[in-house]
Amino acid sequence: MVDKYRNHISGKWSATGSLGTFKNINPADTRDIVGEFPASGKEEVDAAVAAARAAFRKWSLVPAPKRGEIIKRAGDLMVERKEDIARLMTREMGKILIETRGDVQEGIDTAYYAAGEGRRLFGDTVPCELPNKLGMSIRCPVGVCGVITPWNFPMAIPTWKIFPALMCGNTVVFKPASDTPATAVKFVEILLDAGVHEGVINLVHGTGKTVGMPMVEHPGIQLIGFTGSSGVGRIIGEKCGAQLKRLSLELGGKNAEIVMDDANLELALEGALWGAFGTTGQRCTATSRLILHKKISKRFVEQFVEKAQKLRIGNGLDESVQVGPLVNAGQRDIVHNYVKIGREEDKATMLCGGEFLTGGDYDRGFFYKPTVFVNVTRGMRIAKEEIFGPVVVALEVESLDDAIETLNDSSYGLSSSIYTQDVNAAFKAMRDIEAGITYINGPTIGAEIQLPFGGMKNTGNGHRESSHTVLDTYTEWKSIYVDFSGKLQRAQIDT
Ligand code: NAD
Repeated sequence: MVDKYRNHISGKWSATGSLGTFKNINPADTRDIVGEFPASGKEEVDAAVAAARAAFRKWSLVPAPKRGEIIKRAGDLMVERKEDIARLMTREMGKILIETRGDVQEGIDTAYYAAGEGRRLFGDTVPCELPNKLGMSIRCPVGVCGVITPWNFPMAIPTWKIFPALMCGNTVVFKPASDTPATAVKFVEILLDAGVHEGVINLVHGTGKTVGMPMVEHPGIQLIGFTGSSGVGRIIGEKCGAQLKRLSLELGGKNAEIVMDDANLELALEGALWGAFGTTGQRCTATSRLILHKKISKRFVEQFVEKAQKLRIGNGLDESVQVGPLVNAGQRDIVHNYVKIGREEDKATMLCGGEFLTGGDYDRGFFYKPTVFVNVTRGMRIAKEEIFGPVVVALEVESLDDAIETLNDSSYGLSSSIYTQDVNAAFKAMRDIEAGITYINGPTIGAEIQLPFGGMKNTGNGHRESSHTVLDTYTEWKSIYVDFSGKLQRAQIDT
């Protein structure tokens, strides 16, 4: 018996979609059907937008500290349900249990952070040029927010957008990735149980084409919060630009770890393994390039390959497994195709991996061997394009300047890291690396909610999630001038 999951529109759950249903399959065991979901289209999007619009005024007038209290309760419910959600998420998208627990934990951290912001939501008060006059700025909600999310962080990424959106007084239409719709249902159940009003959160399942695009094009949606690939981000950007619609884009990466010749190599190795193969390389911040000083390069790569080959790959529900499957057959084929490209490129040499895991339980999932290329140079496609799988390329450099220049030679600018014991080198890297996130003596993954998250260049359009910076996406600024002089005072004219 397959579990049936539903849309949530205008306070009601509904199992029917105008385009039928779709199933979600466990990528570690394709016999396991996680659930059946309504395949929705424009009809459901229209209904969800109408519900979100109708709920907007009442919700926006709830004092922000009270909205924050509801979000705090949602965080508490996530704590209670953490283990169940983590297990469901592992079945849905494959990553190992410690990581899916971490994914839910990120949602909990986001809830508590957003709840606290409900009691701040700071604006400014400033003096005015003229006597008996005061200036201040306040934040206003934007309206109906369309939230479109990927499958690699099925709880964390939706919470990064939806908690601040709700706390700021907006209402939401939420379309999760069709690989991870069950986790999205659990999230919406939590919001409703915490006391979010009817119509304030609406969940519509379906594809990017049938649900995502109608949301982007809908005149009743004032803002799109999107995380996903740069290709889709560009299409959405064009559509939103034509409508002058507010848009926050969090897109792809080609993140690098620099290892200098004075680095603690054990630490750098541990960081590289975790950064490259955690979430099976399917993180926007995954370490996909190793930039190695020539003095340690050979030694580092030898040990890295040895450790990569020992990683235990399998079903993420098994606590002894270190790397789960890729999310679906399509993603596995994309990864394999990049490996083929790498093998045909110039002098690049593959030292391990490069194939599917087969035999026994492996035949029922999308498992891929950790893969390492050396003799890679900057211009090669495997050094430039996001692969989104367990594939790492190593580039050799002569100096710190060469390392930073190599790291910056990318159309993306999301995460970065440098391992060095030299404080001067570390500070130079902090200043000169072109990325939204830089780790010193840590891997390229591991963001926390209290600092801005996002990237430069083709990784986005200048917005940042997390921290207080996310409030600039989900609020409009309003400037207010209060003249209590009792007469007309003309700015820039009366002195
Ligand atoms: P994707 O771009 O294929 O899909 C993301 C979401 O957009 C899904 O919900 C999908 O259904 C929807 N979508 C697809 N086409 C659409 C369209 N034409 N109109 C509207 N919606 C559409 O990405 P994915 O494969 O789900 O996720 C992997 C990508 O996400 C990688 O590129 C990764 O780097 C990126 N990512 C970025 C961040 C970040 O914060 N920068 C975080 C996680 C993932």
